Amino acid sequence: MTEDLTDIVADIVASMRSAPDRGRVAHYIPELAKVEARHFGIAIATADGQMVTGGDADMGFSIQSISKVFALTLAVGKVGDQLWDRVGREPSGTAFNSIVQLEHEQGIPRNPFINAGAIVVADVNLGGHQPRVAIGEMLRFLRYLAGDDDIAINEAVAASETASGFRNMALANYMRAFDNVRHPVELVLGAYFHQCAIEMSCRQLALAGRYLMLDGRHPDGGRVVSPRRARRINALMLTCGHYDASGDFAFRVGMPGKSGVGGGILAIVPGRASIAVWSPGLNASGNSQLGTLALEELSSRTGWSIFSPPVAG
Ligand code: GLU
Repeated sequence: MTEDLTDIVADIVASMRSAPDRGRVAHYIPELAKVEARHFGIAIATADGQMVTGGDADMGFSIQSISKVFALTLAVGKVGDQLWDRVGREPSGTAFNSIVQLEHEQGIPRNPFINAGAIVVADVNLGGHQPRVAIGEMLRFLRYLAGDDDIAINEAVAASETASGFRNMALANYMRAFDNVRHPVELVLGAYFHQCAIEMSCRQLALAGRYLMLDGRHPDGGRVVSPRRARRINALMLTCGHYDASGDFAFRVGMPGKSGVGGGILAIVPGRASIAVWSPGLNASGNSQLGTLALEELSSRTGWSIFSPPVAG
């Protein structure tokens, strides 16, 4: 990269500010519909310890499905490869909350990043405890990863999702019928809805994602996951992180990424950067409209892509 990252980020923020099509804020969770589409934030934590931010980088937003990356990390830590007996590792090619595929595939969700898969992961993480224990563990994990004790749950979002989460209830009940959800459905969904309602800023999220750019290591030297596991999580983010638009995201951006309906995206450039973008308006596939554009611009300006050879600078 020859250009200065700070300049690139300033340009991206300027072009996103004036973008005419900002997408549409998610409405199916009423509390999320209250967020204004004008916001845009970006934060980049680099492997050499820099932090470059722009726009609303310090404003908290609902991380929603991005939480599935951290939940997966905890679940494989608990049960290891046994997780893959209960969840697949293939792109779904269907919407995030699709139910049809589950019938064909006997209650085994395609991957841990569609809702059905994340509900199984939440079931694993519950491990016989009450939801508040699992949620406490998730919050402690995120606070450690980001080095920030202010990360918390937005209870209004959790309540809103609980009140309107009929599809997720259907998915969980359906998988319970196949014995692929083992705790009572209301407990599993209690944990799942609260994990989705965690609020973080782009800065906190980029910091939390650093272990995935550092082959499983926390910058403090601690090992979060093995290198092999970090690579596998990145592989799943690349192939399944944007639902049925994962191929398009890989094509346009070329980075493992996980989106959420709150408008956030966490993207990883192994060995180089952990990037968080946020803009609440979504495109037709349910991924942040401007967040995707911003990452596309960042990738083309920096040359950062897992498909390009390492570049100096
Ligand atoms: N909590 C959301 C749901 O279960 C997550 C979906 C997403 O962020 O894509 O519907």
